[in-house]
Amino acid sequence: MKKLTYLLLIGFSIFSCTKKEAKKKEVLPNEMVEEEIAIPTTKKEITDPKETEIWEPEPKVVSFTKNNTPSDAIVLFDGSNLDLWITAKDSTDASWTLQSDDSMTVKPGAGDIQTKQNFGSIQLHLEWSAPNLVRGKGQERGNSGIFFQNRYEVQILDSYQNRTYANGQATAIYKQHIPLVNATKATDQWQTYDIIFHAPVFDPEGKKVKSGSFTVLHNGVLVQDNVEILGTTEYIGFPKNEAHEKGPIKLQDHGNPVQYRNIWVRELD
Ligand code: MG
Repeated sequence: MKKLTYLLLIGFSIFSCTKKEAKKKEVLPNEMVEEEIAIPTTKKEITDPKETEIWEPEPKVVSFTKNNTPSDAIVLFDGSNLDLWITAKDSTDASWTLQSDDSMTVKPGAGDIQTKQNFGSIQLHLEWSAPNLVRGKGQERGNSGIFFQNRYEVQILDSYQNRTYANGQATAIYKQHIPLVNATKATDQWQTYDIIFHAPVFDPEGKKVKSGSFTVLHNGVLVQDNVEILGTTEYIGFPKNEAHEKGPIKLQDHGNPVQYRNIWVRELD
């Protein structure tokens, strides 16, 4: 019995020592943080403002052309033609209607149009106007949309005094994110969208390793603040996350003659 008690005591003291060791290891990261924080205080005080100036690299100069378009942008539509667009369903020439005021109008029934070029992450600017003749309500009034990489929709809808489900109104990331505010101007006004789109990233096995994101300004007002893209913006059902490459920008024909003008992009990758 004495022998057993002795053995138990030895066992307990070994256990306690190991625990103390583990405790010591646990506090190590905190000590490292303290050390990191302490580093700046050991540096000499900076008194010359020049010591914190960085001169290189110098940002490239961007100038502005017609309609305030940045000189490094790809102009997708300036009113002169639809040369950079095709009909989405059959790749024939885009047949939406060109107007004399440098805009184009959705031709109901002609189908969606998309860019010939594929894009990854981009900054996009476009202007749109709902049909002046107010017809229908909810999703039936001035409905169109911009699909990034052919699958992620930022909603276009005449949301001026026109209630619908909040995750389907103008600037909603369709069925995923409700806009912070409704910044829609009156139906007969032109609206601007400025959108930063970061594409999702997939690994070689096709698994999504980084979600995409949207930041959206509507008429200069922040309405989507770096929101996560959960997957494809489905009309029915939940988002899907199949791997994909770069893709076109698609504009939706939802049967309403929405007008577009002044569309440009800047590639971010
Ligand atoms: Mg739509």
